[in-house]
Amino acid sequence: MRFNAAVLRSYEGRFAVEEVLLNTGPAGGEILVKIAGCGMCRTDLAVRRSAGRSPLPAVLGHEGAGVVAETGGPHTGLSNGDHVVLSFDSCGHCRNCLNAAPAYCDSFASLNLFGGRKENAARFTDVAGDELAPRWFGQSSFAEYAVVPARNAVRVDPSLPIELLGPLGCGFLTGAGAVFNSFAAGPGDTLAVFGAGAVGLAAVMAATASGAVPLAVDRHPERLALAERFGATPLHAATPDLPGRLRRLTDGGAHYALDTTASAQLINDALRALRPTGHLGVVARLHTTLPLEPGALDRGRRISHICEGDAVPGLLIPRLTGLWQAGRFPFDELIRTYPLADINEAERDCEAGRVVKPVVIPEGWNR
Ligand SMILES: [Zn+2]
Ligand SMILES: [Zn+2]
Repeated sequence: MRFNAAVLRSYEGRFAVEEVLLNTGPAGGEILVKIAGCGMCRTDLAVRRSAGRSPLPAVLGHEGAGVVAETGGPHTGLSNGDHVVLSFDSCGHCRNCLNAAPAYCDSFASLNLFGGRKENAARFTDVAGDELAPRWFGQSSFAEYAVVPARNAVRVDPSLPIELLGPLGCGFLTGAGAVFNSFAAGPGDTLAVFGAGAVGLAAVMAATASGAVPLAVDRHPERLALAERFGATPLHAATPDLPGRLRRLTDGGAHYALDTTASAQLINDALRALRPTGHLGVVARLHTTLPLEPGALDRGRRISHICEGDAVPGLLIPRLTGLWQAGRFPFDELIRTYPLADINEAERDCEAGRVVKPVVIPEGWNR
């Protein structure tokens, strides 16, 4: 079949929306999904700085949501017409997958970031017949259609606005999952969030929904205003003695902190803002060594990397849609939609901080 997709051909070039060819339909255990919308995540844009490790040309996009158009075999657990949110890929049989920690799958990097399942390569080409990279994060959803492992698809209530739900599969899942799963923050617990982008603001919303007390640190006044709207005490990153200020506001230090910035300075500030036994989670990949100030980890303080919010997507995504329906996780307020044809504008706005979460929508997806 032929359909339109946004193809990235060079690390510094623009996306080109063009026709691509899918040479075989879904194999056993896979589904074909008509994409209703796909969020743009920092990890998509990080491909440009991957130093060639993520293969091109490729169709990126890993926050897809849509409607099942075809199932591969009888064992997908899904039917044509089901509404699904697509999440990251995992193998399903390594120790961490068996232990309900698919984000730490032994094959996570190869399946999601560095080329996907090799058997998929020849299935997906441009109109000239040249191979496109095997699917990105098991989906490649900056497109009108995606073939995905049914394992990565989470069925959702068809009354929900499916075109907006894709970011629940990665960005919003990461922030909310850190609060619900990694920290298990409860009523009255304090959480300092560093960086009020899509992940940080999802963490703020989840903290508020949990009865926890969030504080948010950022450089951009409009991001701080959003954080405040969702229940956080806003603090500019340039606040003098930021850790001291955070400790005073949290009666001796925060129980939890979440860093989305990968800034060594802010990570040290976050550790100094924690109370003894406090836990700092970092979600962004560090690109430099991380010097820690003396005493940063004293008295039981700890730091860990959190991948995909420690989530089992099939458990967390329905919780998030339920909270949204109850008015307690208003993630849609962070989204701006763009036609798929305007994906380059979406990237520009994202890089410039003009939009928290762009979602690209294939034209006429619901025809
Ligand atoms: Zn695995
Ligand atoms: Zn992502």
